[in-house]
Amino acid sequence: MSASKKVYLFANWKMYLDYDESNILANAVAAASSDFATKIKMVVFPSSLSFYPVAQALGDVGIVSGAQNIHFEDKGGFTGENSALMYKNAGAKFTLIGHSERRHLFGETNHEVHQKMEAALLVGLVPVLCVGETAKERKGDKAKDVVEVQLRAALDGLKWKPKAKLFIAYEPVWAIGTGKNCDPVEAEKMCLMIENMAKALAKDVEIIILYGGSVNGGNIKEFIKQPNINGVLVGGASAKLDTWLQIVQNAC
Ligand code: PEP
Repeated sequence: MSASKKVYLFANWKMYLDYDESNILANAVAAASSDFATKIKMVVFPSSLSFYPVAQALGDVGIVSGAQNIHFEDKGGFTGENSALMYKNAGAKFTLIGHSERRHLFGETNHEVHQKMEAALLVGLVPVLCVGETAKERKGDKAKDVVEVQLRAALDGLKWKPKAKLFIAYEPVWAIGTGKNCDPVEAEKMCLMIENMAKALAKDVEIIILYGGSVNGGNIKEFIKQPNINGVLVGGASAKLDTWLQIVQNAC
């Protein structure tokens, strides 16, 4: 990565923080932002409950927020869901789509991932498409095939607006929340392959590739120095001020 290139640090707070904890962390991150604002591009994905006040607090210092998940319909009888349009109207700029916890814990299909991609593009949310293989798939030498299927299903036939951006997070399922990160050189190989596939599926779209899976202050540098890894999506270590600022400082 060239010295002038901005590093993307995306924080997925998952369901780790309650309302008060989310606001406390958002205000603390905002207070520290002058130390890193010019060097990195941070996006925070709070819980839906905390989204609005967190987005306000971070927005005041130029940090943008995103949805962890969206529903593809704008409105309707979908108990417990929040639409892409609702998030957009509440100030979201980004949305995660197809996070492995959605796919594997909540049974989200490749078809639903595609519908969510369509909904995000329609309302103008920047999608962060998450792809990655399970441990079993990797052992069976299926990692590339699985990721290719996920990419094709998500991206084939989408209508992109001019100057559109697409973030893709390579997140091997076995590395998420386990403390066992993917070897950075192996992640780089997968990220390069993903970028090439995505370029063919989403022509004239700016594609930015991230790595996610047990990133911490100790390994961040190894990931962002890879030429085709433009940043990281972080779960556990993004939900605590000290571990998050360690990542931010080391990335800077
Ligand atoms: C994630 O949930 O996207 C993630 C990468 O989690 P963790 O950093 O905790 O592995």
